[in-house]
Amino acid sequence: MAHKILVVEDEPAIADTITYVLRSEGFEVTWCATGEEALRTLDENGVSLIVLDVSLPDRNGFELCKQIRKTSGVPIIFLTARTSEVDRVVGLEIGGDDYVPKPFSPRELAARVKAVLRRFPTVEDSSATKRVDSPFLVDKQKMKIWYFGAPLDLSRYEFRILEILIHRPGWVYSREKLMEMVWEAPETSMDRTVDTHIKTIRAKLHKVKPGIDPIQTHRGVGYSLKESW
Ligand code: CA
Repeated sequence: MAHKILVVEDEPAIADTITYVLRSEGFEVTWCATGEEALRTLDENGVSLIVLDVSLPDRNGFELCKQIRKTSGVPIIFLTARTSEVDRVVGLEIGGDDYVPKPFSPRELAARVKAVLRRFPTVEDSSATKRVDSPFLVDKQKMKIWYFGAPLDLSRYEFRILEILIHRPGWVYSREKLMEMVWEAPETSMDRTVDTHIKTIRAKLHKVKPGIDPIQTHRGVGYSLKESW
């Protein structure tokens, strides 16, 4: 089954070029010109990867990525005219998987798309994705996570926190960052809220596999997921 790529880009000429090169590589391509349209499309379809322009008419691509990350770990490649290091770091920190500065070569973009997809092998034709060397299996659509084959009974917030950590093993997320990515109104919650949820997630993981704690605490900084298994 062909991977479906969602291209979110408001400039038709660029969107055309991207669509053309990705189709010629055998991908199925859906083009959206606005963030709103992209969110609607993402809801309906089994999208394998998003190519996301940072500057859109209705919202900033980084904001859109943050919103998508609340419910989905779908790989995201940012497209932007801005090449500053700050933007690159921001893009990856909020959950992007790669970053291609404009102007770019269409072939180069296609190669990046393929490289990112290789890191996210799709299990059969379901929406579940699994890292090659990870004991976690995430089904974004059903908001379910399996750990060593056992389904975890997670609350909505627990799911979101764990999904974010699984998405980028080894990456340290501060409490503030997790708060911002997971809660709709972060200002109404306290730092302790994240700690409390991490504690309950750990207990649930421990029940499946006592003796392993895949969530690492970085004192005064935050949390990350164990990188190698
Ligand atoms: Ca644009």
